[in-house]
Amino acid sequence: MERDTGLIHAGRRPKEVHGAVNPPVYRMSTVIASTVAELNTRSQGRPDKTVTYGRRGTPTSFAFEEAIAATEGGRYAIATASGLSAISSTLIALLKAGDHILVTDSTYDPARYFCDTVLAGLGITTTYYDPRIGAGIAALIQPNTKVVYLESPGSLTFEVQDVPAIAAAAHAAGALVVADNTWGILSFRPFEKGVDVSLQACTKYVGGHADAMLGAIITVDDDLHLKIRQSFGAFGSAPGSEEVWLGLRGLRSLSARLDRQFAAGLRVAEWLSQRPEVAEVLHPALPSSRDHALWTRDFNGGCGLFGVVLKPPISKTAIAAMLDGYHYFGLGYSWGGFESLVVPAHQRRTAVTTPFAGPIIRYHIGLEAEGDLIADLEAGFARLAAAG
Ligand SMILES: *Cc1c(COP(=O)(O)O)cnc(C)c1O
Repeated sequence: MERDTGLIHAGRRPKEVHGAVNPPVYRMSTVIASTVAELNTRSQGRPDKTVTYGRRGTPTSFAFEEAIAATEGGRYAIATASGLSAISSTLIALLKAGDHILVTDSTYDPARYFCDTVLAGLGITTTYYDPRIGAGIAALIQPNTKVVYLESPGSLTFEVQDVPAIAAAAHAAGALVVADNTWGILSFRPFEKGVDVSLQACTKYVGGHADAMLGAIITVDDDLHLKIRQSFGAFGSAPGSEEVWLGLRGLRSLSARLDRQFAAGLRVAEWLSQRPEVAEVLHPALPSSRDHALWTRDFNGGCGLFGVVLKPPISKTAIAAMLDGYHYFGLGYSWGGFESLVVPAHQRRTAVTTPFAGPIIRYHIGLEAEGDLIADLEAGFARLAAAG
């Protein structure tokens, strides 16, 4: 079965739901048992796929977990209430006082905040590393390093990491590899590249319509999955039924949306790279980009999210004039929906000084007609010039 066929059929059991193509949104807390004996067996059951209590999963969340695991090439998934919850729940499950974690300097900023506050408060130390470090990560591994955390490409600055090289060094030292694979959904096969736990912010392309918060923790190994599942269960923060259902529905059209948004995004990125106002386009699929060779080796596609470095000198007022006046590019965080978005990118760095000449603007290309988007961008450059 090829990838796109799997996306359509994974997690669907029409016979169990009166032939409906999609399972309903199961809304449940209590699950009634017929006998005391049944009630007792239930509480001893494995937490997976057994409906015992709403917080521990419903037929809707089990269907979503099965489908998202298959999408990533994994065996198990845990649905979480947001992408950030997938990150924090995983790190809390795998680390304890006295442990050390290596985190890419290009990471999503709330993940950095979690390490610097919550993990630090628990006596877990974090070292940030250059996202392009590759096999050099070995030099940063300490005897107490338990996790090496990646995000490739970084969702603000788009460095592609040499995941197989980093994973080989981590595994040689007995550390687990956790990767935020939100950008690489469908185009990067995490488990074939040495990742142990793949994290997805399903709020982005999986949901795809900017109307639900959802995340997923995906694994292949039995024990690793159970370890995270048990810790996750102890916190009691299950995602809502409606959100899980929206994620499952979004998965069915994911491949078509991604193909189109990746292709359109690449053409818009090429157009931007020809503009005199632009110093560099941060998009690994562009042949001129720094990490293009790694992207070609490890990815078979991408998505509609990329960055643009504007040529300095440039004033904040001029950037605001350009961004404020867009008709189709909404000024807002998140990405992966059907609509185009833009934000000025502020990346905190502690391991490497930012190698960019000027300010970074991050674009997300939606499903609008490309001509309209390019006209919108062109008018924006005119406002930038006028504001000087
Ligand atoms: C948005 C995002 C997250 C967090 O997802 P939420 O669902 O918003 O919590 C995590 N990682 C990356 C790369 C993201 O872009």
